[in-house]
Amino acid sequence: MVRIDLDGKVAVVTGGSRGIGAAIAKTLAAAGASVLVLYRRDEAAAQALVAEIGAAGGTAWPQQTDVRDAQAVASAIEGLAGREGRLDILVNNAGIVRDALVPEMSEEDWHAVLDTNLTGVFLCSRVAVRYMLRRRWGRIINISSVGAWRGNRGQGNYAASKAAVNAFTRVMATEIGSKGITVNAVAPGLIETEMSRAILPFAEETIRERIPVRRIGRPEDVAPLVAFLASEQAAYITGQVFSVDGGLV
Ligand code: NDP
Repeated sequence: MVRIDLDGKVAVVTGGSRGIGAAIAKTLAAAGASVLVLYRRDEAAAQALVAEIGAAGGTAWPQQTDVRDAQAVASAIEGLAGREGRLDILVNNAGIVRDALVPEMSEEDWHAVLDTNLTGVFLCSRVAVRYMLRRRWGRIINISSVGAWRGNRGQGNYAASKAAVNAFTRVMATEIGSKGITVNAVAPGLIETEMSRAILPFAEETIRERIPVRRIGRPEDVAPLVAFLASEQAAYITGQVFSVDGGLV
């Protein structure tokens, strides 16, 4: 039996205030990790999540940090690692969509998606890995998307950002594999959250025709794999991209 034990580990989850990030924060905390939940705007949701984790016997703290802001990222992660004396797990989950067909896509929407989904992963990883290297132990898990492969209409910016995250995952895994640090990506399919709310009413055909398990995913379908990849047992798995999509891809 595999029992995921993250007791004593310190984790950061970006974009943890809701959706997939919130489910990951809860799962890591339930496995024993202390979790810093980074969010951009929704303070009330982050506070509620942290209270829920606390009521269940876990430890979590909220912190407003925009992953596009290098200084804010450094101060949040350095503050946590300084206070706790370690940083073991980073989950780069924060992400946005700004869909438009390429001829109509504004530069603002292109940059907003690349800055959040890709540059945010780089900025958080760059700081976090310094603390992981000191202890020669670490787990970085990037939340990618099956959109990196599917060529969905209107998702030129999003697909490019997630494909780049997959490439970045492999490069980081190569660079620091010998130091006890693994880097993997998890690529969800269609998961019921705020992000997918607008397209869910039109997803019936996709579910019927293309998703073998015949339902939309839930954030709780994604979180357990992230917790496993964060664990000691996953020490020999690195540089991989795992789909959690009910068989869609
Ligand atoms: P949600 O929109 O529900 O949540 C996104 C989270 O990211 C929120 O907590 C939001 O915080 C945070 N966030 C957005 N921008 C920033 C920023 N600049 N800095 C810090 N936090 C930020 O999305 P999901 O839970 O659905 O998505 C989570 C991840 O999963 C994303 O990377 C997404 O691309 C990926 N994914 C989702 C799929 C789906 O079907 N839902 C499918 C495939 C991948 P706040 O609310 O405070 O702004």
